[in-house]
Amino acid sequence: MHAPLPSPPIFAPRMRRIAASPAAVLRRRARELRAAGRDVIELSSGDLDFATPAHVVEAAVAAAGRGETRYTNADGTPELKDAIRAALRREHGVDFDRDGIIVTTGSTQALFEALFATLSPGDEVIVPTPCWMPYVEQVRLADGTPVLLPCAAENGFRLRPDELDAAITPRTRWLVLNNPVNPTGVVYSAEELAALADVLAAHRHVWVLADGLYEHIVFDGRRAPTLAEVAPDLRERTLTVGGVAKSYAMMGWRVGWAAGPAPLVREMAKIQSQTTSCPSSISQAAALAALTGPQEVLAERAAVLAERRDAFVKLLNGCPGLTCTAPEGTFYLFASCAGVIGRHAPDGRKISTDRDFAAYLLESVDVAVVPGADLGLSPYVRASFAPPLAVIEQAARRIRRACAQLA
Ligand code: PMP
Repeated sequence: MHAPLPSPPIFAPRMRRIAASPAAVLRRRARELRAAGRDVIELSSGDLDFATPAHVVEAAVAAAGRGETRYTNADGTPELKDAIRAALRREHGVDFDRDGIIVTTGSTQALFEALFATLSPGDEVIVPTPCWMPYVEQVRLADGTPVLLPCAAENGFRLRPDELDAAITPRTRWLVLNNPVNPTGVVYSAEELAALADVLAAHRHVWVLADGLYEHIVFDGRRAPTLAEVAPDLRERTLTVGGVAKSYAMMGWRVGWAAGPAPLVREMAKIQSQTTSCPSSISQAAALAALTGPQEVLAERAAVLAERRDAFVKLLNGCPGLTCTAPEGTFYLFASCAGVIGRHAPDGRKISTDRDFAAYLLESVDVAVVPGADLGLSPYVRASFAPPLAVIEQAARRIRRACAQLA
């Protein structure tokens, strides 16, 4: 990941500060193994196995047929912006003007543009961990300093208001507030967000990146509130980020958005206009259909995922050395592997870290999971329960076998 640069160096110094996404590296390795004939089960990816709803695909085909194949406005089509505004009103009861909305190429781009538009060297961004690592690498790409704020397992991996307060310095520019949380599956309630908002109210220089990408993947009757609905007084410094990827199983369509103060959104649009021109016209037509079409699919799919979650939690807790609790949202289990650390594989190799354990699972039983070290907390592994139940059961049997073989 940090191989020495060639001489004469052709890469910018900033490239020394960032790594390739470990998830992308894992995905490539799993696919290499599969190409070599191995029956790899990928529990490492952020992909859902559901199809994009048929009416969404049809809308995209129809848009292409109508000739909607040209550049759109850099910051997205007016129709999709209005659909995003309506969705934010419907889901969260918050109103945004059209000039407070930007459509992006996945929510990844929205997050990056916000950071790139605002950070100067030395500026700090508080990222509660464990986390989705691109937050950290994007801060570095934008010349900022990530400040990792561990959310302890003893606190249910939840960010505590007093710990947030203690992490804020005069250089803090942003707090990243992901809800529901990848990888722990934590879903903050409105009361919990309000308690965090109380802390932020006293630090007027701190902005909030509220990432709600998994907002519809919540279980047991929960809903995932967003900061803007809970703390209207923070709205002038909150950027609400979302997308269609997880809600509508549209990972590859690459449509996300941000909603917030118009001056910030304008700067983000400037970056976008100079780097990608605009999000895909066809994908925007698809996202429009997803947001304005029938919404029953959201609850139906969450119910399917809840069943998979329940089965997987039980099975993983039956693997010697692993323990996990049921996530409140997302489609990931974040399992402690403390009980396998220090043990030895049949070939004598010692499992010293969660990275060793993840490598052992992939090489010995063809199951790919993400080591906690790549998500900011060890010793854990993140395993997705997005695949169908039969695949999850098969993966769990393999993991159990691998764990049982450790001495
Ligand atoms: N936020 C979180 C927490 C994620 O897990 C992901 C992707 N897995 C993203 C943002 C980015 O998703 P996308 O760019 O596909 O909208």
